[in-house]
Amino acid sequence: MSAQIIDGKAFAAKVRGQVAEHVTRLKEQHGITPGLAVVLVGEDPASQVYVRSKGKMTAEVGMKSVEHKLEVETAEADLLALIDQLNKDESIHGILVQLPLPKHLNEDLVINSISPAKDVDGFHISNVGLLGTGQKSMVPCTPLGCLMMLREHHGSLSGLNAVVIGRSNIVGKPMAQLLLGDSCTVTIAHSRTKDLPEVVGRADIVVAAVGRPEMVPGEWIKKGATVIDVGINRIERDGKNKLVGDVDFASCSEVAGAITPVPGGVGPMTIACLLANTVTACSRANGLPEPEGLTA
Ligand code: NDP
Repeated sequence: MSAQIIDGKAFAAKVRGQVAEHVTRLKEQHGITPGLAVVLVGEDPASQVYVRSKGKMTAEVGMKSVEHKLEVETAEADLLALIDQLNKDESIHGILVQLPLPKHLNEDLVINSISPAKDVDGFHISNVGLLGTGQKSMVPCTPLGCLMMLREHHGSLSGLNAVVIGRSNIVGKPMAQLLLGDSCTVTIAHSRTKDLPEVVGRADIVVAAVGRPEMVPGEWIKKGATVIDVGINRIERDGKNKLVGDVDFASCSEVAGAITPVPGGVGPMTIACLLANTVTACSRANGLPEPEGLTA
């Protein structure tokens, strides 16, 4: 293996440390405790694990953590009423509604009912528009984590060719906007892209957010490129359950200059960025300076 491993787990611990320091300053100098409310509707096992882990890490950095667990058949009006109450609650600076929601709930309506200033997932249409026009916004956590790792590794990203594979609203599109904001030349690839190997082969930076296990082989990657693997895929291999990314780590790490592993790459950065967004939202809400290095 020739590629440098970008250690997302270690970097996420560093980010959480910076968040904790800022939380301490807010408490000691201003008597403010940042608060994050997480709303979970239903009993999806994966969502329950995410919500538990978010609550634990929120408390660990010294923030107030509130969880609202609602029945799977919760009426839309009741969920909207809870969000309205959280929007008005001055002790809550970040609101996250765990997705996916049960089918009878309108996800767009629910997300767009969160106050944009408290939308720590960055999915509200106002934040999407602000990001798209290069204005200060709340930035989706997973792409923000990828950007932080890329900046840490490269310093400046200006002029680099970046290919984002995947065009979802939560990863691919905001990732492309962030890379454009850092002056990369950006291509977004998707399921209809022609000659994907050729497109990927031009990239100095490849961000794979597809949801297909080990889809990108090393032979597609330009020598020395940086590979950020967003994918989280559970597969069975040799009779064991295994977590793999969207890139074939074994072959890509022979060619790439740097690569994120799965697990231990993008995943830990996502939660760290949620905490970073909450402390940023709290600082903005109180007219105080934002923590440095924790926003786009
Ligand atoms: P979506 O399913 O919403 O989007 C997948 C994208 O991949 C689509 O744009 C689709 O194209 C594209 N795609 C599918 N097949 C191909 C193909 N053969 N060639 C090129 N493009 C293709 O997924 P998400 O963006 O939500 O998530 C992507 C992955 O990232 C998943 O594995 C998910 O689990 C993981 N993830 C990880 C997070 C983390 O914290 N590490 C957070 C969020 C997601 P089209 O639009 O044309 O259908």
